[in-house]
Amino acid sequence: MSTWNLPQRGQRVHIQEVVMRDGLQIEPIFVPTEDKVALINELSRTGLPKIEVSSFISAKAVPALRDAEAVFQAIDRVPGVAYAALVLNIRGAERALECKVDEINLVVSASETHNLVNTRMTRRQSRRALREIIAMARGRMAINVSVSTAFGCPMEGEVEPGEVLDIADEFAALQVDGITLCDTTGMANPAQVHGLCAGLAQRWPKTRLALHFHNTRGMGLANVLAGLASGIHHFDASLAGLGGCPFAPGATGNICTEDAVHMLQSMGYDTGIDLDRLLACSKQIPELVHHGVPGQVVHAGPWNTRHRVPSDFEAIRTRALERDAQQA
Ligand code: ZN
Repeated sequence: MSTWNLPQRGQRVHIQEVVMRDGLQIEPIFVPTEDKVALINELSRTGLPKIEVSSFISAKAVPALRDAEAVFQAIDRVPGVAYAALVLNIRGAERALECKVDEINLVVSASETHNLVNTRMTRRQSRRALREIIAMARGRMAINVSVSTAFGCPMEGEVEPGEVLDIADEFAALQVDGITLCDTTGMANPAQVHGLCAGLAQRWPKTRLALHFHNTRGMGLANVLAGLASGIHHFDASLAGLGGCPFAPGATGNICTEDAVHMLQSMGYDTGIDLDRLLACSKQIPELVHHGVPGQVVHAGPWNTRHRVPSDFEAIRTRALERDAQQA
């Protein structure tokens, strides 16, 4: 296994919030528009650089996000925050344009099976559709291309790195603003992440490269470190660890935003994010979705939390010191 070199302390690491889209899209409950708007407005003041606000897809396909227009119209646009949306076709891109979305996120799967199941199109058809959207949106909104199942397909299994690079090469050459490699169902392991990602920043020097991990099997934050050691500094995450995968029912969701920020800050990296404000946002999630969530730091408190010693601490110490004196 090749050597890992983590960046120096102080390195800026960009955490991009996807809870409003990836987190909410599979929730059976519809979170009221005004609650979504209030949460986005609060998230906008935590220092997050980018928030994926919603999806411009059919209301029938994803009823939880059927209020994309209303949400975009009502949120405060905080300067310095990019407000993004998922788009699957030209119609979606037009709706995004009408809503003055800062960035559209387009998706194609590295696995043919997953792409067919997800979009009813072959990868070839999806890539053509993406090129049409890019031609239409270029210069009017920033464009990000997400490559799903880049680290494994829940139906096919292993995904050849060559398939991932072939897709990403095409869109890097088309000069999209960003490319995100997605571990859609939480199959990636850290060695695999480093194996695929080391050197990619040099391969596409003009493209902002991001990684999107799910913590389905508990490897999410380890994969973030593997990504960092590969020279990638942008990561998607979802508040409270919300999100999941329709192919792995009951599985935990995306890597948890506040847990990722917490890990990076405790290691000395600069996320530009106010962790306390982020935790305050996270605490609202169980009430919004009516169930518990996987995030951990919100329960334990940050690493620098200090707890009071037990009330009988003095007695414990006195007895221990007495034994010490007897043994001397
Ligand atoms: Zn995802």
